[in-house]
Amino acid sequence: MQNRGLATMQYQARATDMKATDQKQEHTSSYYAATVNEVTDYPMLQGSHSADVCVVGAGFTGVATALTLAERGYSVALVEANRVGWGASGRNGGQIINGISGLEKIRKKHGDGIADMLWGMKWRGNDIIYDRVEKYGIDCDLKSGFLEVAPKPSQVSYFEAYAEERRRHDFPYKYEIWDRQKTCELLGTDAFHGGFVCYRDGHLHPLNLCIGEARAAHTLGVQIFEQSPVTSIEHGPRPKVRTAEGVVEAQSVVLAGNAYSMLEPKHLSNLVFPAGSYIIATEPLSDDVVNQINPLDVAVCDVNEVVDYYRLSADKRLLYGGACNYSGRDPASIKTYILPRMLKVYPQLKDVRIDFEWGGKIGVVLNRIPAVGRINDNIYYCQGYSGHGVNATHIMGEIMSDAVTGTMEKFDLFADMKHFRLPGSQWLGNQIIALGMLYYKLKDRL
Ligand SMILES: Cc1cc2nc3c(=O)[nH]c(=O)nc-3n(C[C@H](O)[C@H](O)[C@H](O)COP(=O)(O)OP(=O)(O)OC[C@H]3O[C@@H](n4cnc5c(N)ncnc54)[C@H](O)[C@@H]3O)c2cc1C
Repeated sequence: MQNRGLATMQYQARATDMKATDQKQEHTSSYYAATVNEVTDYPMLQGSHSADVCVVGAGFTGVATALTLAERGYSVALVEANRVGWGASGRNGGQIINGISGLEKIRKKHGDGIADMLWGMKWRGNDIIYDRVEKYGIDCDLKSGFLEVAPKPSQVSYFEAYAEERRRHDFPYKYEIWDRQKTCELLGTDAFHGGFVCYRDGHLHPLNLCIGEARAAHTLGVQIFEQSPVTSIEHGPRPKVRTAEGVVEAQSVVLAGNAYSMLEPKHLSNLVFPAGSYIIATEPLSDDVVNQINPLDVAVCDVNEVVDYYRLSADKRLLYGGACNYSGRDPASIKTYILPRMLKVYPQLKDVRIDFEWGGKIGVVLNRIPAVGRINDNIYYCQGYSGHGVNATHIMGEIMSDAVTGTMEKFDLFADMKHFRLPGSQWLGNQIIALGMLYYKLKDRL
């Protein structure tokens, strides 16, 4: 039997650690932070405020929720511990990938009757992103094309299944299966045995998207507070969200702190596990090299259990990421950790300079379905995209907005899914997951 009291105490101890080290920070020193369109400087939360909805955490989940609600005429306060986009949303690989992990499990539970609704959800986040980039004029280097590649010959068979699914649903966008020769030619490497490219997916500068969406929300009246870690939430008919110097009273609260959040430990500890993922960025590459390694400028991700992913930035750097680390310990040198993986695919880049290295925390859920639910009827949470969040957070922003305004159909589908909470402390949970992932890493290598 799990010792919930002990687990909660340990979780709170980690929360205190996080407050001292991780909170109230400026952006990590990434390529993205070095190339932002706007250095945000929203005020700290001080004094008393009120809103229809208070959203905690200004990553994609929080910003997309706030913007959707503002578009619908609700008053919103968005409270961020650090800066808009400071978490995974401002640090990720920028790959816009269709789907939400776990949709297949939801279909199995609820039957084929909802299959069309779930299929319709797959690209909903992409559509929201494309629409907002256009509507609000957000400059975030948006490009079309996401290529999945097979490091092992046995994985090539996945691609026919992807194509078949699209044919069945009359998918109106361009997609292609690439054989080994075409993949080698268009990626300048023989590391892969084939690929599947979908042009409704793509890639972008995630921090500029997040900051641009926040600016749009602010223009529509959302009160944004930065450098304001939420320390507690007072439950009640109108919950109060408290920081060191201020409070927001609202009808509903949406918790969107994902892997960085330590709030509501009684309900949320051991549900989402922070896993580190790491990226390096080279110096800008010459046109010759770009034409050799990625002339179509698509985002690339392998289909292993523990993925490597890469793409070119707008100024033609190679942004190469991967090596998910579940133990909770970051590598001493991200460059030393990631560079050998990049050189395995592109040995010809051995002399290029690495200008940036950084990492961030992915929120991993054991059954891979985002953990969505409600505490006391008016405090909602949504977290844990298991590494595929650019599209999924935008879908969830819409679903959370629907839910707080009374349309529960899609929210209930997710909230209804049972999540397994590991016994013991969050730290112990991470070690157990790290052990489990060793199995998958070995499987990828075989
Ligand atoms: C290195 C890396 C690469 C990735 N690559 C991809 C990719 O290519 N494609 C893809 O689809 N997904 C990718 N992901 C996953 C994706 O980035 C996430 O799923 C997504 O950004 C999660 O967004 P979020 O808003 O839920 O959380 P976050 O972006 O982490 O935002 C949470 C925010 O909440 C704030 N917060 C936490 N606690 C509090 C508090 N108490 N008070 C106030 N604020 C608080 C934090 O400061 C933070 O800003 C990657 C993730 C990482 C780390």
